[in-house]
Amino acid sequence: MLRVGLTGGIGAGKSTVANRLAEHGAVLIDSDLLAREVVERGSKGLAEIVAAFGEDVLAADGSLDRPALAAKAFADDEARKKLNAIVHPRVGARTAELMAAAGPDAVVVHDIPLLVENGLAPAYHLVIVVDAPVETRVRRLVEARGMAEADARARIRAQATGEQRRAAADVWLDNGGAADVVLAEVDALWADRLVPFEANVRLGRPRPPRSPKVAPYDATWPAQAERLLTRIRLAVGERAVRADHIGSTAVPGLAAKNIIDLQVTVPELADAEALADTLTAAGFPAAGGEWVDDPQDGGEPWPKRVHIGGDPGRAVNLHVRSLETPAWRLALLFRDWIRAHPGERDAYAEVKLRLAAEHAEDGTTEPYTDEKQTWVNAAFTRAETWAAHTTWTP
Ligand code: ADP
Repeated sequence: MLRVGLTGGIGAGKSTVANRLAEHGAVLIDSDLLAREVVERGSKGLAEIVAAFGEDVLAADGSLDRPALAAKAFADDEARKKLNAIVHPRVGARTAELMAAAGPDAVVVHDIPLLVENGLAPAYHLVIVVDAPVETRVRRLVEARGMAEADARARIRAQATGEQRRAAADVWLDNGGAADVVLAEVDALWADRLVPFEANVRLGRPRPPRSPKVAPYDATWPAQAERLLTRIRLAVGERAVRADHIGSTAVPGLAAKNIIDLQVTVPELADAEALADTLTAAGFPAAGGEWVDDPQDGGEPWPKRVHIGGDPGRAVNLHVRSLETPAWRLALLFRDWIRAHPGERDAYAEVKLRLAAEHAEDGTTEPYTDEKQTWVNAAFTRAETWAAHTTWTP
């Protein structure tokens, strides 16, 4: 099952996008709808609200009088907390029920306006943000929904900023234009990304092989890596010692294959195996389910587990290494050393670009990676000297 979080400021077009995804076959969980259901007429939730806030929050027909409740519940923090303590657990339980009822191959889309405000992004495989300029949203809310302009502006002000949402977004849908434009993007997103992402995770499908292609440095790589790491950290919890962004995409200014390398460090090799299912469920299936040996000059092999990101829109290699081998430390040392040495960084970029050109027709990255390792192995010696002089620690 793929869990997709869908959010955006009020009036941006969340419902428009959600409905289209549902037409394609997504299982839609609408948190606003659930919040109304759990306090509908005759519900236990409504009875608790009446017990907490008094009979005068009821309309004549026994349903909730929302403006009357809002006047009381939003008067102060205590009252707001009391209301949330009644509504939130019920919405949570209902959401869990609906998730459990969705099939193992479902793409579940959770429409949740306050996803960013409540820090929920790491719980999803993918976060979609729908956005539109503030003035456009105000106009839609006033014209299409009949909201008072001051009310629309007040609600927009109370929500997260575009910048905050952007930091959480794996997919950014601009709905500032005609609805057709965003709907076409949604159609492509469904077919090219959500459907294969779900299948990749469920079936443990590896990324198709391709020739090495070195891209210019992308300044968004660190933020993309951090988003992935928050998901991984949430999934593995205390079973990992640490999770880090490693490899070339972690070095500012360095050209690299557009594949984000991440490293999860576990205490023992057996822990790497024990995490395999957890990482798969989090969206990073095991590449072949096998142990892979880290390259090194002579001596005992250094086994690791490799998982790959299931999202076809974001290539990720996730290396699970244990404290029992030196490889986890070397990955961090190499990154920190080359970050601190722009000359070495540029020399490394030259090597990569030359090798990528030589191997452009290979159809696989293996010979490229093997040859590149010669430079990296020599660099380790220089990095160790630097570490000794600077008393570097991971
Ligand atoms: P949200 O769920 O994010 O609050 P909606 O999807 O309900 O937003 O959209 C708000 C209003 O704007 C709705 O009445 C919707 O029909 C309309 N709307 C959505 N997208 C567009 C668009 N691209 N152009 C014009 N109107 C739109």
